[in-house]
Amino acid sequence: MIRSARFIPDMSADELAAVQQDGLKWTVHHAYQGSPFYRRRLDEAGVHPGDIKHLSDLTRLPFTTAYDLQAEYPLPLLSVPEEQVVRIHGSSGTTGKRKILSYTQKDISDWADMFARCYEMAGLTTLDRVQICVGYGLWTAGAGFQLGCERFGAMALPVGPGMLDIQLQMLTDLGTTCLGSTASMALLLGEEVEKQNLRSKLKLKRSIFGAEAHTRKMRQRFEEALGLEHSFDISGMTEIYGPGAGIECEAHQGIHYWGDMYILELIDPDTLLPVAPGELGEMVITSLKKEASPLIRYRTRDMTRLIPGVCPCGCSMPRHERIQGRSDDMIIFRGVNIYPGQVAAVLEKHPQMLSEYQISLSRSEGLDHMVVRAERRAETPETEADALAKAIGVDIKHQILVTAKVEILAPGSLPRSFAKTKRVLDEREKD
Ligand code: ZN
Repeated sequence: MIRSARFIPDMSADELAAVQQDGLKWTVHHAYQGSPFYRRRLDEAGVHPGDIKHLSDLTRLPFTTAYDLQAEYPLPLLSVPEEQVVRIHGSSGTTGKRKILSYTQKDISDWADMFARCYEMAGLTTLDRVQICVGYGLWTAGAGFQLGCERFGAMALPVGPGMLDIQLQMLTDLGTTCLGSTASMALLLGEEVEKQNLRSKLKLKRSIFGAEAHTRKMRQRFEEALGLEHSFDISGMTEIYGPGAGIECEAHQGIHYWGDMYILELIDPDTLLPVAPGELGEMVITSLKKEASPLIRYRTRDMTRLIPGVCPCGCSMPRHERIQGRSDDMIIFRGVNIYPGQVAAVLEKHPQMLSEYQISLSRSEGLDHMVVRAERRAETPETEADALAKAIGVDIKHQILVTAKVEILAPGSLPRSFAKTKRVLDEREKD
């Protein structure tokens, strides 16, 4: 039962560097051999896999971006023969096309190990019961939480997102001890538990949350309402397997990330040069073991800082601060990544509409809300506005998988700008 399973490796800085150097060399060779995209990219940059001998050679490699994941759609970066691919997952792309990432049998197993480390770091045992309240399906969230839970040996309660009544029933009847959710879902559940006075019936001790921006206030609020001893911020993205790429420890001084699975560089998004130690920079990821869709200097657009020194918890894995924001215009809404370009792509399919739009985000009662404002053409009569709003709302739901309130405005209503138009008004609380 107890913490015998040891998933988190104990490595000295030298050992970690050696693993990273071997993994870097392997990844570059593997990608060059297996992927026409990477071969072309490296050839263009004038780098041959044989040139990569040391960790310091990393900066000779070209960057990969979210746009590159569209170039080879639907199976971008694929570096193994298709018969070795056992699964795909997807997340939102920069426009209408999704980012699709492929997994081999070994990739799935490595991901399970990474996520099992997260449960270990969060202090769970095999007697814990983990209620998984995040999305299943194309998204990585549900699959990651479940895979890691089973590999770790705790009990998975795969409920999925929403469904407040079932969540509360499982929490009380099954005696859930750990919640896996977004921060806003934890808050929503916490408020419902208070409303229905269920706190004394709960056995919840810990929660693992991630996938969206949260504030300290939100976190304090749900920890209190649910009676938690600890909550843990988990990191990850579909490009690097999914959630489970790193997590906080009980010292809560940053996120430990698995440096033996990927190299994390922080760069200035304008100059593309490494930032000084302790400075805010964009996370750039190079995978060390990924087979199906390896990453070479992938620009995540997430901004953070590295934390120097050894963590009081004793774990030797390196740390970064929680994600501070984005260096592009992607927004995270109820755990779903959205690019404004996706909304533009939906509007383009409606000839009655102009191209101007605005996305407004707010938060009330623990939940994020989205309003999309768009202009009808002068030729489109105002009497059609309600039907149009409904149709566009349905398309957004189908294409982007989120619910938005759509408002149709008269042409010329939205502010115009000669500079870059501000498409997103984010009024959700921040700290
Ligand atoms: Zn620690």
